[in-house]
Amino acid sequence: LKVTLIASTRLEQTASDGFEVDEWLTDPNGTYYNKGEIDHLEEFAGRACYQSWNRPNINTAYNDAYMAHILQVGHESVLEHATAAFYIEGVTRTLTHELVRHRHLSYSQKSQRYVDESEAEFTIPADLMEFSDTLWGAQLIHRMHRHHDDAKRLYADIDAALRERKLGTKRSRGAARAVLPGNVHTSIVVSGNMRAWRDFMRKRWHVAAEREIRELAGIILSELRSIAANTFQDIPEVPFGSE
Ligand SMILES: Cc1cc2nc3c(=O)[nH]c(=O)nc-3n(C[C@H](O)[C@H](O)[C@H](O)COP(=O)(O)OP(=O)(O)OC[C@H]3O[C@@H](n4cnc5c(N)ncnc54)[C@H](O)[C@@H]3O)c2cc1C
Repeated sequence: LKVTLIASTRLEQTASDGFEVDEWLTDPNGTYYNKGEIDHLEEFAGRACYQSWNRPNINTAYNDAYMAHILQVGHESVLEHATAAFYIEGVTRTLTHELVRHRHLSYSQKSQRYVDESEAEFTIPADLMEFSDTLWGAQLIHRMHRHHDDAKRLYADIDAALRERKLGTKRSRGAARAVLPGNVHTSIVVSGNMRAWRDFMRKRWHVAAEREIRELAGIILSELRSIAANTFQDIPEVPFGSE
C-alpha cells in the first residue's frame, strides 16, 4: 500500500479584492500563510459570505478558531473550494470497489482490460496474516499463495488462447480477468474536495469499516492534515467508534 499526494489546491495571494491578504494570512508569529493554504482559502470563502474581512469577532480571528466554528455550524460548502488528489498503489480491487462508492470523489483506475495482469500481485488479508505463526494459519496462507499462482496461470492461458484466435488484447484480457480474485492489486488516482474527504473519513476512518480501507483512510487523513490541519481538526486521531 503506497499513497502519494500528487496535487492540492494552492492559494494565490492575489485572490482578494480590497483586502490585505498578506496581513490576513500572517499570524503574530508571522508563519500562518505557509501552514495551511487550503485552510485559508476556506476562511476566505467564509468571510466572503459576510464580508467580514476585518475579523470583527475576536473569538474567530485566527484560522484554527474560524475553521472550528465553520465545522461546528456545518457551513461545509466553503470546504468544496479546495481539493487534493492521491495516487494509491498496491491496494486490492476489493478495496477500490468500496472506495468508488463515495460519489463525490473522482477516480481514474488501472484498466484490467488494457494492462497485462499475468504478473499481478495479491494481498493476504491482514486478519489472516496475524495467524501466520500458527500451523492452521500458515497452511491457509500457503493455500492462498497456491490459489494466486493457479489464478495467474489460468489468466495467462485464457489470454493467450483468445489472442491466438485474434480477439485482440482488450477482449482477451477482459475475459481472462474473470479468474483474478478480489485481493489482486490495483492502482487508482482519487481526487476530491475537502468536504468529500471529510465525509469519506466519517465512514471509512471508523471501526466498522473494513480493515484495509480503514488503514488507507488513516494514511490519507494524515496527508490531509499536513496540508489542511484546521479543516480536519475535529476528526479523531483514532478511528470513529473507538472506545
Ligand atoms: C461499514 C460500512 C459497511 C457497508 N456495507 C455495505 C454493504 O453491505 N452493501 C453496500 O451496498 N454498501 C455498503 N457500504 C457502502 C455504503 O452503503 C455507501 O455506499 C458508502 O459508504 C458511500 O456512502 P454514501 O453513499 O453516503 O457516500 P457518497 O456517495 O460519497 O455521498 C455522500 C453524501 O451525499 C449525499 N448523497 C449522495 N448521493 C445522493 C443521492 N443520490 N441522493 C441523496 N443524497 C445523496 C448523502 O448525504 C451521502 O451521505 C458500507 C459502508 C460502510 C462504511
